[in-house]
Amino acid sequence: MTTNKQILLASRPQGEASAANFRLVETPLPALADGQVLVRHHYLSLDPYMRGRMNDSKSYAQPQPLDAVMIGGTAGEVAESRHPNFKPGDKVVGMGGWQEYAVVDAAQPGALRKVDITHIPLSAYLGAVGMPGVTGWYGLVKICEPKAGETVVVSAASGAVGSVVGQLAKARGCRAVGIAGGADKCRYVVEELGFDACIDYKLHGDLKSLVAALKDACPNGIDGYFENVGGMILDAVMPRMNAFGRMAFCGMISGYNGEPIPMTYPQMILQSRLRVQGFIVSEHMEIWPEALKELGTMVATGQLKYRESVAQGIAAAPEAFLGLLKGKNFGKQLVKLI
Ligand code: NDP
Repeated sequence: MTTNKQILLASRPQGEASAANFRLVETPLPALADGQVLVRHHYLSLDPYMRGRMNDSKSYAQPQPLDAVMIGGTAGEVAESRHPNFKPGDKVVGMGGWQEYAVVDAAQPGALRKVDITHIPLSAYLGAVGMPGVTGWYGLVKICEPKAGETVVVSAASGAVGSVVGQLAKARGCRAVGIAGGADKCRYVVEELGFDACIDYKLHGDLKSLVAALKDACPNGIDGYFENVGGMILDAVMPRMNAFGRMAFCGMISGYNGEPIPMTYPQMILQSRLRVQGFIVSEHMEIWPEALKELGTMVATGQLKYRESVAQGIAAAPEAFLGLLKGKNFGKQLVKLI
């Protein structure tokens, strides 16, 4: 009998999360019942939203239960099947969680999706051609509504979501400007991803300096802003927004440990008649097919580039996740299990 290594949420963080909040266990795999599929995970996706699920507080989603397998997107291969639509060897994506194997009730709508790896690598279905890619697509296309010639700015620009936002904006004829932490990430954003400019926020320790850098990088102001971070970065963007600009609030990672993130210039929303819209990508399932079609085509044809940070083995997941929250990742953070 095969055993399954799993990572459970052992306790809820007070402030910053730590490795002690997780516990690695080994459990025997149960025999499959009718309709079930055993999936062997190749990749586990680590995503910032998981930090929110570790808390027991009011949110758009239920908290992750204690002593249960950490929630998470997974990509893998069918190892055994008692469902007619799946056979061993099929490549599938699902929400298998932080574990090496998952027993899935395949009849449950959306539980398991077969993917084609002929032109798109399996891991990309957790990144550019998966939830993060669709997130970038939705916030840009449906909220920022970019028009050719406009300027779009995105924070956490080298990451899974941000990298997609800027490249999609470029494909729509916009000027794309990223904000990222460090010279390496900024160089990558411009030279590899093709953004027009990228501001290293770590070089600009105060608001005045960051506003000046944005002014240089966005000589015609900002029409669309895709927010992943909050705090001083948002404060610097606000005064540079053009009249009737659109702001997609996707993430506020600078406050995920519970620290307050005050907004210095809310009056600019009024003065510049801005449209500010927060969104949760899983609440817009109707746009996923359209978004995945564009993202899949762009990745398959090499038009959409992405980068991955890959940790090895299930035991490495907690540290890799904690690193993601501190910007130690460079591109989509994954854990490779086999
Ligand atoms: P990323 O790959 O972008 O990784 C997170 C990045 O955030 C880090 O690499 C780091 O980049 C940056 N970061 C972390 N802490 C700070 C900080 N204090 N100040 C500034 N930057 C920080 O992750 P994703 O692409 O997966 O996610 C990006 C954002 O999108 C997150 O906020 C996430 O919560 C959100 N999201 C929202 C969804 C929705 O439905 N609304 C769905 C999916 C993601 P750097 O080194 O450049 O600072």
